[in-house]
Amino acid sequence: MEAFAQTERTTLKRLPKRAVYDRELLYRILDEGFICHVGFVNEAQPFVIPTGYARAGDKLYIHGSQASRMLRTLGKGIDVCVTVTLVDGLVLARSAFHHSMNYRSVVVFGRATVVDERAEKLDALRALSEHMIPGRWDEVRQPTDQELKATSVLALPLAEASAKVRTGPPIDEEEDYELPVWAGVIPLRLVAGEPVADPRLPRDVAPPDYATKYTRG
Ligand SMILES: Cc1cc2nc3c(=O)[nH]c(=O)nc-3n(C[C@H](O)[C@H](O)[C@H](O)COP(=O)(O)OP(=O)(O)OC[C@H]3O[C@@H](n4cnc5c(N)ncnc54)[C@H](O)[C@@H]3O)c2cc1C
Repeated sequence: MEAFAQTERTTLKRLPKRAVYDRELLYRILDEGFICHVGFVNEAQPFVIPTGYARAGDKLYIHGSQASRMLRTLGKGIDVCVTVTLVDGLVLARSAFHHSMNYRSVVVFGRATVVDERAEKLDALRALSEHMIPGRWDEVRQPTDQELKATSVLALPLAEASAKVRTGPPIDEEEDYELPVWAGVIPLRLVAGEPVADPRLPRDVAPPDYATKYTRG
């Protein structure tokens, strides 16, 4: 896979050694996350809206109601900036100043296009569903024409992007290493709980493996 070309706006100025332009690594981050934050400007007002997403090939798909202001605005082909963040741990240093977080994050720039063609729209919706709950799409009722019409799907090309990654222990001032203060990392990860059945579910419908064994990352 070809790495992302570094552009003026994807060049990290702070701690550039943490920058990653490797497409494979960047896609691994995108494939582990499923919530992005979409930043755009509408009539001089900046918005940052959280939403679900999925990657398929070199495209990031988002979807929602036809009535969504976010999707209608982005569909005009305006500049957009999308971020995805995975938090891996809290980094506790000996000084207040050097506390940090271990994380993997991605910033994507580009312009989205509306996906109108039925086959691509269905593929994108399947990708969104499978990205969040692998195995779900083939079991559920498929969208009707009316439901498809009521749903907007946008594709953002993954052409200009950067990742930033921090790993490892705290980095303290040399003289602070002697302080009797605990330092280290509190690892954090997303863990699924026990599935809770819908009260209206017939008793003989067992939860599928993809629900009882749900994991990410
Ligand atoms: C985890 C998560 C996943 C989501 N997944 C999707 C998805 O896949 N598709 C989808 O369409 N939407 C999703 N949403 C909802 C999304 O954030 C927007 O609310 C929705 O897309 C409507 O956008 P809009 O521009 O029409 O909002 P509008 O209703 O036009 O927004 C008006 C104002 O409402 C407030 N607002 C809107 N959304 C939020 C919010 N989420 N939190 C706090 N304030 C808000 C803001 O002040 C905003 O300026 C998700 C939200 C979360 C938190």
